[in-house]
Amino acid sequence: MTDQLTVADNLVVSMDYTLRLDSGEIVDSSEGRGPLEYLQGHSQIIPGLERELVGMAVGEAKDVAVAPSDGYGERSADEMQLVPHDAFPEELKLSEGMALQVREAETGRPLEAYVAKIQEEGVVLDFNHPLAGATLHFAVKIAGLRPATSEELEHGHAHGAGHAH
Ligand code: ZN
Repeated sequence: MTDQLTVADNLVVSMDYTLRLDSGEIVDSSEGRGPLEYLQGHSQIIPGLERELVGMAVGEAKDVAVAPSDGYGERSADEMQLVPHDAFPEELKLSEGMALQVREAETGRPLEAYVAKIQEEGVVLDFNHPLAGATLHFAVKIAGLRPATSEELEHGHAHGAGHAH
């Protein structure tokens, strides 16, 4: 019987969740979008949450608090960078708190950054993840479980309804 399954490696998990900060502010939720589908045991979700879900059955709910070290990491001063004003296109109107896509100089890899401060000498960009340093409070409920297909195992992720390939 498939309803005897509990969360284990190589199963596709459907999960309803709400993510809150210490303040109680909701920063992410599956509500209105339908459950999140992911492949357990393949680092598709943060390690501190994935570990706590092992053994849960469909319909089971749990509150999980994840420390920064098991979530998006601690905030690091090394991730703050002063960039001269002339490195930005002139027509770009920068404001503090604004999110930017920046290309890493050596690799061309796109990075997400936030404008932390605009100063005379330049613009301080913050490359920390927006949730770095935060304790994450998840309220989760397992909505479904199924064995992964061989293709999903090969790709290392779940192929849900919205997954294009
Ligand atoms: Zn795939």
